[in-house]
Amino acid sequence: MLDRIYLSPPHLGRHELNYLHKAVEDNWVAPAGPNLTGFEADLCTFTGVGHAVALHSGTAAIHLGLRLLGVGPGDEVLCPSFTFVATANPIGYCGATPVFVDSEADTWNMCPVRLREAITDRLSKGKKLKALLLVHLYGMPAKLDELLAIAQEFDLPVLEDAAEALGSRYQGRPLGSFGEVSVFSFNGNKILTTSGGGALLTNRADYAAKALFWATQAKDAAPHYQHSEVGYNYRLSNLLAGIGRGQMELLEDRVKRRSEIFTWYKENLAGLPGLSVAPATELPGSRANRWLTTVLLNPAEPKDGASQTSATPESLRQHLETRNIESRPLWKPLHQQPLFADAPMYGGAVCEDLFARGLCLPSGTAMTDDDQRRVAKALREGLAA
Ligand SMILES: *Cc1c(COP(=O)(O)O)cnc(C)c1O
Repeated sequence: MLDRIYLSPPHLGRHELNYLHKAVEDNWVAPAGPNLTGFEADLCTFTGVGHAVALHSGTAAIHLGLRLLGVGPGDEVLCPSFTFVATANPIGYCGATPVFVDSEADTWNMCPVRLREAITDRLSKGKKLKALLLVHLYGMPAKLDELLAIAQEFDLPVLEDAAEALGSRYQGRPLGSFGEVSVFSFNGNKILTTSGGGALLTNRADYAAKALFWATQAKDAAPHYQHSEVGYNYRLSNLLAGIGRGQMELLEDRVKRRSEIFTWYKENLAGLPGLSVAPATELPGSRANRWLTTVLLNPAEPKDGASQTSATPESLRQHLETRNIESRPLWKPLHQQPLFADAPMYGGAVCEDLFARGLCLPSGTAMTDDDQRRVAKALREGLAA
């Protein structure tokens, strides 16, 4: 059996070990430490955002971000349906309810038209909308001009979930710099990883201080342990932050390599019947980090001349599995999850269709040209079957 090709495995460079080594040598694995400070400074330098707080996951960062924006019991938070569950789970931690909004077909991210519809309808029902949670799925920048204008019109603070979008840009500016609060993830499958980790970024010094306070058990200023608010144990360790510093040195390389992988797939899968790499192009002036290359299938129904296939994402996934290649369906929309059966949803046809027709291909930066050829061959076989 040939070696397994994974979807997006960790890809370490050479300098992570230096930072780890130094931390161990200095006996500085806790508390906090120079790697944490350095990693946060790297994130600020890259994004141009004033403050960063490194945390043990992107999910924790979203949770603290929602709390900073004042989200609490009885509130509603606008959120795309087409995303990973970690975007929406923290809304529940706050005792609030997600209001799901459909995608648009160009970027697969939140549809501005549906967003306006959702806001107008919730307000007419007397609901308390507290924040807008935006996601850049698979690293593709959302239609920020339109979405941010609506947020401003209705005075809604924006939490930017850029967990998948480190290294992407919108009109030249790094994603993760557009929200009142923004979030990155350094989970094992993301473009950079600390094995597990996340960060909260904000230009507001008071927000950053509060996030750090909550992340470290909300200890009031006193010589003894004194608490007047609920806190969490959410801080990243100085060891893992060392891995993060080594990884940050590689960010531009990693984005370049993911883009090459994407372009290779786009060119080499172009002739396959009923399959297309999508979304194929970015909005003008923006750059996707191409975290994962995704494809859509055209089902075999009469459809104005486009090439078709009777394969399904699941039949293709199973075929790739027989060749020891990992692939995954696109995120299953959250409004279709039993967990969120009662949450309001605006639109739905776009993301339901994407889920029904889409598949994520192996896109790890360490994969070789041979690996990509193996994936292409397996896709060709799977489509012919
Ligand atoms: C990975 C991810 C998260 C959560 O990050 P963790 O570090 O795994 O907690 C949140 N939102 C999106 C869109 C993600 O892909």
